[in-house]
Amino acid sequence: MAVPARRTSKAKKAKRRTHYKLSVPGMSTCSNCGEMKRSHHVCPECGHYAGKEVQA
Ligand SMILES: [Zn+2]
Repeated sequence: MAVPARRTSKAKKAKRRTHYKLSVPGMSTCSNCGEMKRSHHVCPECGHYAGKEVQA
């Protein structure tokens, strides 16, 4: 019987579970203003992306 070669790391497990919480996948909350935003896209509310202001 096949067994896993190695344990899933804490980081790998946490990254996989980032999509578990939200009902709509590919959405996340803005780290600046807390509004719902599409992940990997600039926040439409405050124009922040990855902790920086990209557009005013
Ligand atoms: Zn925002």
